[in-house]
Amino acid sequence: TVALSIKQLSKTYNNGFQALKGIDFEVKEGDFFALLGPNGAGKSTTIGIICSLVNKTGGQVEVFGYDIDSDFPMAKKQLGVVPQEFNFNNFEKPLDILIHQAGYYGIPRKLAEERSEFYLKKLGLWDKRDTPSRNLSGGMKRRLMIARALIHEPKLLILDEPTAGVDIEMRRSMWAFLQEINAQGTTIILTTHYLEEAESLCKNIAIINHGVIAENTSMRTLLQKL
Ligand code: ADP
Ligand code: ADP
Repeated sequence: TVALSIKQLSKTYNNGFQALKGIDFEVKEGDFFALLGPNGAGKSTTIGIICSLVNKTGGQVEVFGYDIDSDFPMAKKQLGVVPQEFNFNNFEKPLDILIHQAGYYGIPRKLAEERSEFYLKKLGLWDKRDTPSRNLSGGMKRRLMIARALIHEPKLLILDEPTAGVDIEMRRSMWAFLQEINAQGTTIILTTHYLEEAESLCKNIAIINHGVIAENTSMRTLLQKL
């Protein structure tokens, strides 16, 4: 099964800047996939298009076979996204944030409460469940975004630079958590500009630079080349 299919994807911003120049790649179900590239390469633009925050200029995106244009509700259901920037209501509390998010997906209240408790405990945030989100540390906010992205148990989890600004200890525990959910069957794609992060986690990789895919191969093959 193909979890994500990207064909001839292009994006020209309104100022005329061509951020994606017709990229292709595919991610198989169960993969742990890295989209690696320097700042400005087009990683966030790609993620933005997949989760329908950015309008593409051309090309096609399918999530588990569902086209993000013609099958938007089904595509969205398969997908959990952890954006780079925190976008919580500052005053809302972690438990409420998760229960509201579950509501958007039509998850019944009781199940929403159970899952919220599960993910808050899993990510070490249960003690902070009633703390306004603005009072959480950067690492806690990041983990809360992961919990929020998982609340509807998506088959594909996409994280945009998940460990940017996170200290090494927290990074290791986030890596372990992601490996655990990948082992349980969730397909994961992360963007990063650290080869080291991609290397320690990912099975397959695409390298993007100036809006073009420069390399798309297994991590093992890439490391043999370097
Ligand atoms: P779209 O083509 O998807 O409609 P726009 O070109 O209208 O997107 O830009 C969306 C927003 O991003 C605007 O508010 C714009 O100010 C902002 N923006 C412009 N240039 C950049 C940049 N280089 N990096 C990030 N955001 C930018
Ligand atoms: P990455 O995530 O790899 O750092 P981005 O996808 O954020 O790269 O950006 C790719 C390129 O597109 C950059 O040169 C960036 O400045 C530009 N860009 C991003 N958003 C906009 C926008 N809204 N308007 C114009 N240019 C943008």
